Amino acid sequence: MFELLKSDSLTKARLGRLTTAHGAIETPVFMPVGTQASVKAIDPRELLEMGTQIILGNTYHLNIRPGMEIIRAAGGLHRFMNWDKPILTDSGGFQVFSLAKIRKIKTHGVEFRSHIDGSPLFLGPKEAMEIQRTLGSDIAMVFDECPPHDAPAREQKLAVERTIRWAGECREQPRAAGQLVFGIVQGGSNPVLREECAKALVPMEFDGYAIGGVSVGEPEPEMFRAVELTEPFLPAHKPRYAMGLGTPAQLVELIARGVDMFDCVLPTRVARNGTVFTRKGTYILKNAENKMNFGPLEDGCECFACRRFTRAYLRHLYNVQEILAIRMLSVHNSYLFLKVMADVRAAIANDTFSDFYRDFIAGYRPTQRVLLARAAAKER
Ligand SMILES: [Zn+2]
Repeated sequence: MFELLKSDSLTKARLGRLTTAHGAIETPVFMPVGTQASVKAIDPRELLEMGTQIILGNTYHLNIRPGMEIIRAAGGLHRFMNWDKPILTDSGGFQVFSLAKIRKIKTHGVEFRSHIDGSPLFLGPKEAMEIQRTLGSDIAMVFDECPPHDAPAREQKLAVERTIRWAGECREQPRAAGQLVFGIVQGGSNPVLREECAKALVPMEFDGYAIGGVSVGEPEPEMFRAVELTEPFLPAHKPRYAMGLGTPAQLVELIARGVDMFDCVLPTRVARNGTVFTRKGTYILKNAENKMNFGPLEDGCECFACRRFTRAYLRHLYNVQEILAIRMLSVHNSYLFLKVMADVRAAIANDTFSDFYRDFIAGYRPTQRVLLARAAAKER
């Protein structure tokens, strides 16, 4: 299912191919997020045009709305949203622990209240796998517990114990035809817990392994550390997926640390508040310097928005709240993430990844928040 095509000689970067029921995925890969069965503001034709190989859907949200009765009647998520390339579904664990009002963590799952209408719900390994089977995703994720990054040590330990036990239960559940299942390693920034969790999950022979508990509000150095603490214990012949990350520079950093798959809401989320991603960092479209800028959102970008429209025009549309502005920013930002991954794959194939890595990171201006976290980590 996963072919490791090439390993970079100077970094841990890998070139691979993951074959799923709806086609093959070239890795490293970025997966646009379609939480509610839609990548916000972008239609499937545009996703294909920009080179999307796989998208993400979400168990927690889709189970609440539209509900599995409708998905089942539609013939699964692919048909419901008219997307016939691969789909990965998140198990809902992350949302249960971050969005819902938890009532009780039990042996076989979590009792909680819907964040929409407060109705009582229960999600555990059995339920999460059953929903993902109905959705018919190509890759299902195990149901895990993802505690906040600053959770006390005892809570982190309990979360790892539950994550391991629930992974075993997920492993035993029936799957959709050809559905792959990935395990999720938790353990925060605790080396002992990360090792323990990885070592318990690897013998379960999942089809791939995710590094969970990253991008949960922790500073960037801690996020890199969580990945570095986990990666050595993951099997080389299975894909590795860092969940919910990050900026283009963080993706390149993590590829150099041996990660193959990423998903993130950032490109479409920041588009909605007028932020543009480029290979040099982000900028705010509303800023006065873009008023008379008749160049594209990013020089050299070949996305639909950059080929058709100027910054000045899109800035105007954004200021008068025309929907097209948000659509085009979402297209550009998503295209950039996908194109950086395509460039990374070409660089690994040509044995030039370490140069690409150095130049990309040197040219990328991180946000103030990231810079502050880096400075703080150096002082420690
Ligand atoms: Zn563009």
